Amino acid sequence: MPPRIPLRRRRRTKVVATLGPASSSPEMIERLYRAGADVFRLNFSHGSHADHEERIGIIRGLEGKVGRPIGILADVQGPKLRVGRFGGGRVQLQAGQPFRLDLNPTPGDVRRVQLPHPEIIGAARIGTSLLLDDGKLRLRVDHVRGDHLETEVVVGGPLSDRKGVNVPDVALPIPALTPKDREDLAFALERGIEYVGLSFVQRPEDVAEARELTGGRAWLMVKMEKPQAVENLDAIMALTDCVMVARGDLGVELPPEEVPLVQKRIVRAARAAGKPVVVATQMLESMIAAPAPTRAEASDVATAVFDGADAVMLSAETAAGQYPWEAVNMMDRILARVEQDDGWRALTDAARPEPEPNSAGAIAAAARQVAHTIGAQAIATFTSTGSTTLRMARERPDCPIVGLTASEASARRLAVVWGVHPVVAPEPNSMSEMVTRALRVAQAEGFAKGGEEVVVTAGVPFGVPGTTNALRVASVK
Ligand code: PGA
Ligand code: MN
Repeated sequence: MPPRIPLRRRRRTKVVATLGPASSSPEMIERLYRAGADVFRLNFSHGSHADHEERIGIIRGLEGKVGRPIGILADVQGPKLRVGRFGGGRVQLQAGQPFRLDLNPTPGDVRRVQLPHPEIIGAARIGTSLLLDDGKLRLRVDHVRGDHLETEVVVGGPLSDRKGVNVPDVALPIPALTPKDREDLAFALERGIEYVGLSFVQRPEDVAEARELTGGRAWLMVKMEKPQAVENLDAIMALTDCVMVARGDLGVELPPEEVPLVQKRIVRAARAAGKPVVVATQMLESMIAAPAPTRAEASDVATAVFDGADAVMLSAETAAGQYPWEAVNMMDRILARVEQDDGWRALTDAARPEPEPNSAGAIAAAARQVAHTIGAQAIATFTSTGSTTLRMARERPDCPIVGLTASEASARRLAVVWGVHPVVAPEPNSMSEMVTRALRVAQAEGFAKGGEEVVVTAGVPFGVPGTTNALRVASVK
């Protein structure tokens, strides 16, 4: 029998692929995995629990088949703010005309429509902007009444039933988790997923509330999609496990020229904190309907790599597009190509955050330096919660990181982390066992062969999180 060819990526930046109608068969999910999807996203804005359950089953089956941990992101919808319905289904609003938003469910017309969210009416001030239909129309509040808003249309256009409303200027007293989100969250946690995507986060309290619900059963991934969340970036970063630059809603609420800078700011903050960051939405948007991206899209993906993202994400491209496999394959090609560039390496080295001022941070920094100096083939990290491995990834070393852990949950979570090849392996009982195991795994997974060196880090005693304190160099016999 031919030896098993270990599956390993030829790049460090990871790929998150959203599943949907275009990607729900076991065959397609396997093709996407083999093309490069490291994490699959279940979008709870669409699909039934039965749909998601089936996809989770397929992914877990695939893990067994390929022998690799795979991450699952359960992305809960959050509150969706919408206008009500119109008599004729739609109206045409002209710039300069008055338009009223009220709580009355009577079908609307060209002068008024229902806005079934008293929180918006309560929070709006004179001058507040209301964006309708993904920002295509803009209203400005002229008068605030107890139960309605009088506005002037600033940018007009067609407006139809149940179109979305964004209110970028004010913090809304609306919690990030709706009753539906709580049900979806409970369902997802029960099935065992790795990350919870939190939409509509505005305040640190939103994150704290979600953390209470998840109770450590999954990593929280805050979706940065509200200007209020960006204002509270440091406090939110301190409370979350990972972040997503959710450029869909962020790009509606912020002017386009702000989005690239906010992306860089969020990525930089996550890098400093040593927490995984995913850049998302419209990355290869034209591939929904075409087998190749625009050159601008290829540049956008490359920019996310240069910025230092852990992962890039595909949404409709893989969930509902005509070319899901091609989209993942294209991501893989762009990421791998950028990472071969000397300029990328130089920038990554220049942007490296200072080590955390403790022994764990010092060991991680030293491991990177040692691996670089001796040209080690891999850095093997032993971890229980993932913290030692995250700290290593924060250093962005120039060789791959093999993330060994006895915890299947930790191995799956590490799937989203830059540069990490997670492997489930029993916890060693001694330093010498640790070194032997690291070398054996590095060899078996195709990272190092006879005579080549591996740097090994761990926290000793094993199983105590946050105690990275050991560094060894060993060579494969
Ligand atoms: P969504 O989140 O696609 O679930 O809205 C991502 C984004 O807003 O970019
Ligand atoms: Mn969103």
